[in-house]
Amino acid sequence: MSADARTLMILAGDGIGPEVMAEVRRVIDWFNANRALGFQVTEDLVGGAAYDAHGVPLADETMSKAQSADAVLLGAVGGPQYDALDFSVKPERGLLRLRKEMDLFANLRPAQCFDALAEDSSLKHDVIAGLDLMIVRELTGGVYFGEPRGITEMNDGQRMGVNTQRYTTNEIRRVARVAFDLAQKRDGRLCSMEKANVMESGILWREEVQWVGDNEFPDIDLSHMYADAGGMQLVRWPTQFDVIVTDNLFGDLLSDVAAMLTGSLGMLPSASLGAPDPATGRPKALYEPVHGSAPDITGQGLANPLACILSFAMALRYSFDLGAEADLLEGAVADALAKGARTKDIAQGGEHLSTSGMGDAVLAELAAA
Ligand code: NAD
Repeated sequence: MSADARTLMILAGDGIGPEVMAEVRRVIDWFNANRALGFQVTEDLVGGAAYDAHGVPLADETMSKAQSADAVLLGAVGGPQYDALDFSVKPERGLLRLRKEMDLFANLRPAQCFDALAEDSSLKHDVIAGLDLMIVRELTGGVYFGEPRGITEMNDGQRMGVNTQRYTTNEIRRVARVAFDLAQKRDGRLCSMEKANVMESGILWREEVQWVGDNEFPDIDLSHMYADAGGMQLVRWPTQFDVIVTDNLFGDLLSDVAAMLTGSLGMLPSASLGAPDPATGRPKALYEPVHGSAPDITGQGLANPLACILSFAMALRYSFDLGAEADLLEGAVADALAKGARTKDIAQGGEHLSTSGMGDAVLAELAAA
């Protein structure tokens, strides 16, 4: 891969999105200057910012540029000034359009406990210390999309709400492959979660994941767990897991549970991946912090940029195969935290840095590495 072939599209969005993304820009510039990575960055509008400029939360031109970028980095969308807009042009529709048209079917949600923050977890230190797991959630199928759906009148005058849990072989196998592949690059263990005891779609899920394991990844240690038991195990003994793969609904719940084990929303990155491009082998990819636009702290220099910076570290690893550089960046974040760098959300009432102060702390550790 030539160094000038790496294209990144930045969609900073609304609220604290531009504030945290400014720190990511500094990190990208550092890698370009010091590691000659040749990232070519373009910036565009999404969410409320796009609505203000174009009357839509994602312009067609922006969508097509996102399709051709190697990776998209998104800040956050939304804010109270857009709450009264029609549903079709709400800021969130811009994000949903990106996910849908890029067909991002695998949502990666790491839950990692930095040593320096282990005391801040709601779990005991010895339960949480060393936590480093990855939840892979199927993102484009299942009960949130299945037909039939809707609310209908019944003959006896009651109303009935219906949603359909539906999965096909291909939908299950493609997300399973992403999870197996990750397990191969990590600790070699994958736990698949469903409700095969009470749902036919769960039986199919279990059989298809097992099929991919038997036929394509026999070296991976594959286990299966019912999703409710998985929820219990996540809070009882979370360090037993390496990679977890699960469907859209259970993944929605379990990834939030796992994320909160580690503390603030301002620390949580994510990636959403689609099919690999046949020419480059790179998956369609969108990287974004889990948090929203945080209107309550916008413009005050209080936003924690680490979730967004760690999302860029995921881009280094999963879009550009730059594992060493991702390690370097994640190590710089861990070192900055170990030396006491804290934004307000993780300061536990103590001294805190501004958004750019945290960016400075990470850049100082990168320079010292
Ligand atoms: P939020 O994540 O924006 O904020 C929740 C709380 O966490 C707030 O108190 C906020 O100050 C704090 N917080 C969030 N990120 C932080 C950071 N980086 N550093 C420090 N503190 C941080 O969720 P919300 O308040 O429910 O939603 C606000 C807006 O964001 C809404 O318009 C919502 O629709 C939107 N939203 C967008 C996304 C997205 O873009 N992916 C996700 C969730 C919510």
